[in-house]
Amino acid sequence: MPRIAYVNGRYTPHADASVHVEDRGYQFADGVYEVCEVARGNIMDMTRHLDRLDRSLRELRIEWPIARRALEFVMREVVRRNHVENGLVYLQVTRGVAPRDHYFPAAGTQPALVVTAKRSSPAVAARRAAEGVKVITVPENRWERVDIKTVGLLPNVLARQKAREAGAVEAWFIDTDGTVKEGASTNAWIVTADGTLVTRPAEFGILRGITRATVMDVAKKLGLKVEERSFSVDEAKGAKEAFITAATTVVMPVVDIDGASVANGHPGSVTLSLREAFFDIAEKTPA
Ligand code: PLP
Repeated sequence: MPRIAYVNGRYTPHADASVHVEDRGYQFADGVYEVCEVARGNIMDMTRHLDRLDRSLRELRIEWPIARRALEFVMREVVRRNHVENGLVYLQVTRGVAPRDHYFPAAGTQPALVVTAKRSSPAVAARRAAEGVKVITVPENRWERVDIKTVGLLPNVLARQKAREAGAVEAWFIDTDGTVKEGASTNAWIVTADGTLVTRPAEFGILRGITRATVMDVAKKLGLKVEERSFSVDEAKGAKEAFITAATTVVMPVVDIDGASVANGHPGSVTLSLREAFFDIAEKTPA
């Protein structure tokens, strides 16, 4: 069955889906994106993802390409047309197509919208979660506005490639003071000896992850304490548990940081209970 993509008003075979060479996303990374998990036929946490999209667009002064309700429809339609039961739906909005010039294009230039969906295997994800993943650390080298979910991801690309070449799956960006900021495509967490969940505050210097927000809801339901504060790489290495969160991985145990095992090198029970309870507590929009 051929995959279908939505590109600027048209549903088109994925293999032919393309944008203009002067799309500002292509020329300048002048655009933003969102990724939602699809689980058991539901788009997860759609409201929070579209609220964050709204904020990203406002911060960059890009108009909504279509009405929010229409975008919700397109997302569900792309998931449906691709028969995605479990996987991801991706959307990207750029400032549109215009002759290459750093200044914003003329008023009235239509923002460009792309929506795609792809399947993933829950069994593969479950196996990975049962084993846990390795992370490496890299110095922070991104711009200050990482709170905006822009498509400008070159430092993230280089960091994750470095992780892969080191036999890990994620790279944590480390601040100049030795504290963990976040992963290249995930938020970072630890569990302390007394069972408190710790993650960096999202006011500044990290993306306010949607999975991060929902994990806080899950923690509340499970009666777990959450502390938003910085933690160092050494504290993470000595923690009872560590994990990462993102729409792409939900809650994923971290068992190794820069070659040092976290606790006994196996996924922790708190992490696994958060992962298990996540589906029930997250918002579900049937596709
Ligand atoms: N941090 C960064 C840099 C990311 O790119 C992502 C997701 O892509 C996240 C955190 C996790 O965000 P979310 O839970 O909304 O997927």
